Amino acid sequence: MADFCNQCAHELGLPEGDLCYVRKDPDGKPMVLTPGEGWMELCEGCGPCVVDSEGNCLSLHCDKRHGEVHYELGTKAQNQT
Ligand SMILES: [Zn+2]
Ligand SMILES: [Zn+2]
Repeated sequence: MADFCNQCAHELGLPEGDLCYVRKDPDGKPMVLTPGEGWMELCEGCGPCVVDSEGNCLSLHCDKRHGEVHYELGTKAQNQT
C-alpha cells in the first residue's frame, strides 16, 4: 500500500493524502499534534518525512523539501516579536 503526504497527493490529483491522523491514542481516537510538531512517516512521493497530524509534510529534508514553506512561516512569526 502506498501512502502519500497531502502535498504529494495533491500533485497526483488526489483530494487528500493517506497520512492524515495516522496515529491513534489507546482509546482509538485520532491523535492531534500541536502546530510545528510532526511524526516520522514514509511517503511514497517524497520519502522519509515528518507530517503533522493532518498529513501535511513538514520535512525540510524530504526529496521535495516540503517543509521550507512551514519553515519560512515560522521564521516570519519569530521576526515579528
Ligand atoms: Zn510526500
Ligand atoms: Zn515531503
